[in-house]
Amino acid sequence: MKNFTYTANPSRVVFGVGALQYLAREIELLGARRALVLSTPEQEDSARRVADLLGDRAAGIFARAVMHVPIETAREARDEARRLGADCAVAIGGGSTTGLGKAIALLDAIAAPPLEGGAAARAAGAQRLGAPGQGLPILAIPTTYAGSEVTAIYGLTEGGVKKTGRDPRVLPRTVIYDPELTLTLPYAMTVTSAFNAIAHAAEGLYAPDANPVIGLMAEEGIRACAAALPALRADPKDLAARSDALYGAWLCGTVLGAITMGLHHKLCHTLGGSFNLPHAAAHTVILPHALAYNARAAEGAMSRVGRALGVKGEADPMAAPRALHDLARLYGAPTSLAAIGMPADGLDRAADLAASSPYPNPRPLERAALRALLQRAYDGAPPQA
Ligand code: NAD
Repeated sequence: MKNFTYTANPSRVVFGVGALQYLAREIELLGARRALVLSTPEQEDSARRVADLLGDRAAGIFARAVMHVPIETAREARDEARRLGADCAVAIGGGSTTGLGKAIALLDAIAAPPLEGGAAARAAGAQRLGAPGQGLPILAIPTTYAGSEVTAIYGLTEGGVKKTGRDPRVLPRTVIYDPELTLTLPYAMTVTSAFNAIAHAAEGLYAPDANPVIGLMAEEGIRACAAALPALRADPKDLAARSDALYGAWLCGTVLGAITMGLHHKLCHTLGGSFNLPHAAAHTVILPHALAYNARAAEGAMSRVGRALGVKGEADPMAAPRALHDLARLYGAPTSLAAIGMPADGLDRAADLAASSPYPNPRPLERAALRALLQRAYDGAPPQA
């Protein structure tokens, strides 16, 4: 066994059908008294339900979360939290809403005055919402399979440029996973979001900082997400399958939070950030191609992905990438970048971006091979090693 170092992200997870009923107890355990409830405009009804459950522990609702977390929105939400005297935030929704919660926590944390700070810095610090050295505590209630709730990764978009980073202060302290809340997730988004989760785990199996525990979570996470999809195709309101998928998403998100991402996430970040492609759909299209690119350089990882997917001939490193492409088609998910809004004249730029900044990947980054990968993904062609 290789040597490894593993720092687990500390969060409390409450999982199960009906787990939302424990919300008030969980807020109390956080030591908080007034929660600002966050959601997208589309999920404002869910935010209201949460506020109703909280009763006088609800400070208010901020239902303006959008994808990629514009810094202006994060500042407005932080200011609203201050105005309402909130001492925690509850984020109900997908990765965009969780991301807004994280951004508020970060803005709050960095408002801390330096020890030797002057009067202005101390005044800023006096307006902070969270305890010294920490940001505003976040309780996340995920309703997709994005997995952001268990990572310390944040994203913020300023002047049209999305920056991401890691900071332990943005990690939600508590996560309530209630599969009932995912019953309304439209089928198309269910499939792409599950692929988004599978992608986190797949890259976790060849990451340079992977470890045996993360490997177990990755394999089990892929298995649980993939196994739930046939039942969800038959009936998107199948609660047992929803529970399995959400359990898998938790594991896959945990993997993402523990590892350094490679080519797949780099490509998706580029496509999402520079071409504004829908996040989960971009992951679904790219995953078979990114894994195929790495297949021969990461045969052990491919065999584990194949085993988790229940693919025959898993010893063939291309079996898993091919199976993912076929599964996306079977479940009616997009398999081409063209179908999700990628401009054909953006492929060269995307290849330049993916080849330029260094990041760890099993196979070295070759610009021509990446350009060919992107062309296949654009056309919806099968993946090739
Ligand atoms: P999303 O949060 O943008 O949600 C998409 C839409 O689906 C929204 O309108 C939302 O309100 C709606 N929705 C969500 N759950 C629903 C439900 N159960 N029923 C009905 N509608 C529902 O999509 P996402 O894919 O979850 O998140 C994408 C964002 O998350 C991206 O910005 C991505 O970068 C980020 N992300 C971050 C991390 C991280 O670790 N920081 C991880 C994964 C994704």
